[in-house]
Amino acid sequence: MNAPSILWFRNDLRLADNPALMAVADRPVLPIFVLDDAAAGEWQHGGAQRWWLHHALASLAADLATRGVALHLVSGDAATIIPSLAEKIGAAEVHVAQRFEPWGRRQDEAIAASLQASGRRFVRHRGSLLHDPHAVRTAQGKPFQVYSPFARAVFAAGDPAPPLAAPAQLHPVAAAPPDQMLDLLPRRDWAQDWARAFGDNWQPGEAGAQARLAAFGAQALAAYAGLRNIPAEPGGTSGLSPHLRFGEISPRQVWHAARAAGAAGPHTFLKEILWREFSYHLLFHRPEMPEAPLAQKFADFPWQPEPRYLSAWQRGMTGYPIVDAGMRQLWATGWMHNRVRMIVASLLVKHLLQPWQDGQAWFWDTLVDGDLASNSASWQWVAGSGADAAPYFRVFNPMLQGAKFDPDGAYVKRWVPELAALPASLVHTPWEAPRGQAGDYPAPIIDHAEGRARALAAFAAISGEAA
Ligand code: FAD
Repeated sequence: MNAPSILWFRNDLRLADNPALMAVADRPVLPIFVLDDAAAGEWQHGGAQRWWLHHALASLAADLATRGVALHLVSGDAATIIPSLAEKIGAAEVHVAQRFEPWGRRQDEAIAASLQASGRRFVRHRGSLLHDPHAVRTAQGKPFQVYSPFARAVFAAGDPAPPLAAPAQLHPVAAAPPDQMLDLLPRRDWAQDWARAFGDNWQPGEAGAQARLAAFGAQALAAYAGLRNIPAEPGGTSGLSPHLRFGEISPRQVWHAARAAGAAGPHTFLKEILWREFSYHLLFHRPEMPEAPLAQKFADFPWQPEPRYLSAWQRGMTGYPIVDAGMRQLWATGWMHNRVRMIVASLLVKHLLQPWQDGQAWFWDTLVDGDLASNSASWQWVAGSGADAAPYFRVFNPMLQGAKFDPDGAYVKRWVPELAALPASLVHTPWEAPRGQAGDYPAPIIDHAEGRARALAAFAAISGEAA
């Protein structure tokens, strides 16, 4: 048999369609997960992600046990832990799924060099994306800046190779260190009341991901183009985002399942999968994206940080029903519908002139699917500062958005019970309701017309134009 290997799980917490795992299935393997908060710095897992990760690792450990190996869970400096473990068990290779967070790429380079110095190999596999971000290029050989031509290029490249099966059996290493317990992973706020109810909505782990995929079958796909913007529609979108975030399912598995369903909807759905892919493409080529605006002129944008505004937005108390419903859904479930993410983000950065980084940070802490690439690309898209962004002068009108995408107010009434008694005609404008009908629901934090004018004036200031 071959020399032992280490399989270092990161954002690929699954057995099926896992190229790194298949590469070590014929030899003794030590599977490990390292929680390295110090290396991740401000991008260490947010609170909701931590809740997810804890359960996802429990599920992965149970799945690995059925194949005959124990998952080792360690917390600390991966750049020290991985090379020294390789030395200890005599591993010739360390296999991983490639990751693209800038801090992770830096750490991987350091670990690869350290392993190489002792004659070992660090083998990176494509696991979390359909295509390597550096391999997708314009006709001129440059990275894409705009989504549509990027998506066209990916579609033109054809379907990805079919997914791999899970290995039937794995071989433990003889000299494995003692098992580490899940409870070694530091918990954060999620242990308190906040995240306790997440389990009503989610089943972290590979089996949960497969169940979600199965539930989002041919019928849902066929209806997807029509329903994906309706937040009250329970199966309107797949709900796969946290599973994709932690790699409990691969985009390739999702892609092929959608193709196999053969319904009319796959193209629209696959285009959404490519937004994720595009976000990674941007992050790879513009590693500053999580912190700095991609469009240079936004470096001087006159944001007006105001804790009172940020707090009302976070608590779902802005007085705009569709916004507050979204923010409360986020807090209660760790997830928010995509249409509503765009509306709440727009209100924060445009009407309220709060820096997009503040909204991004709140999402990072509260979303179970918090993903460095998709989160920062989407915030910059809404703010207008992204590579391929919504034009800044397009300011979402929360009343019109509500009336269009939640016409009977079902979504608002679900999350903002103070407004449950209002007729549909007033649910997005409760300030027009007779006194008392909207309970103690707050008045709008800022008048829509005033907010819009402020936003346009601020934009004019960086564009050198009259507002
Ligand atoms: P579906 O509609 O079923 O789509 C299938 C999959 O495609 C999703 O699971 C997701 O992986 C991908 N996808 C869909 N839309 C997008 C998109 N616009 N950008 C990137 N990928 C997409 N998504 C995250 O996964 N993590 C984030 O941290 C995140 N932050 C966001 C922040 C803002 C301000 C906005 C506007 C969007 C953000 N999104 C993020 C994108 C999108 O809202 C979610 O991916 C989507 O709502 C997930 O629900 P779903 O799985 O039911 O999506």
